[in-house]
Amino acid sequence: MIETCNSILKMGFQDGSRFFTFLFNDFLLFKERNGIYLYPEPITKLMDSYMKLPGIGAKTAARLAFFTINMKEDDVTDFAKALISAKRDLNYCSICGHITQDDPCSICQDKSRDRSIILVVEDPKDVISLEKMREYHGLYHILHGVLSPIEGTGPEDINIPSLIRRLQSEEVKEVIIATNATAEGEATAMYLSRLIRPAGIKVTRLAHGLSVGSDIEYADEITLLKAVEGRREIE
Ligand SMILES: [Zn+2]
Repeated sequence: MIETCNSILKMGFQDGSRFFTFLFNDFLLFKERNGIYLYPEPITKLMDSYMKLPGIGAKTAARLAFFTINMKEDDVTDFAKALISAKRDLNYCSICGHITQDDPCSICQDKSRDRSIILVVEDPKDVISLEKMREYHGLYHILHGVLSPIEGTGPEDINIPSLIRRLQSEEVKEVIIATNATAEGEATAMYLSRLIRPAGIKVTRLAHGLSVGSDIEYADEITLLKAVEGRREIE
């Protein structure tokens, strides 16, 4: 069975929640073959693409695919161009590993920044968060992951060798380790500290603690432990 229709008539889940039906202006809807409803191929391809994104299941992919085909053609073109540009025009900085259009990145190129301090983070998104703070004026190094024996991630699998090379060639006096307060983040911080400290470079760790407005009652153990460890004297 192949259905077409002249206007949007119905949109919803048929047969419980198993089949999504969508009647669209002169558009091939779905065909029934051996009792299975199939989407037209362009929609299937779009859904497959959306399902490659994190946290997107079949239902959300279908919703996004149908939303996309209802968008203005110009908006869809801009969307597609943005996807291609983000992939094609962006690279990782050869010094710090941050995501950038130019190599080295604008932070590494910025002569006004304090080149004696490097702040080590897991992910490029962490740099954006820290930069929003406007309080830090040193350099960064992005690991692109953390050490994880369970997942088989060792020092060579993340951006650690390039950090060590940097410390040998640049005049760095302090390395601030800002990996997340997870078991892997803590293990990575410990590993880096033991690796860097013998070279006479100061290694510090961000004090992780309770977020503003959070109740101690609801804080997990790692947060509480870090909050106590990172305590400061009240002036
Ligand atoms: Zn850089």
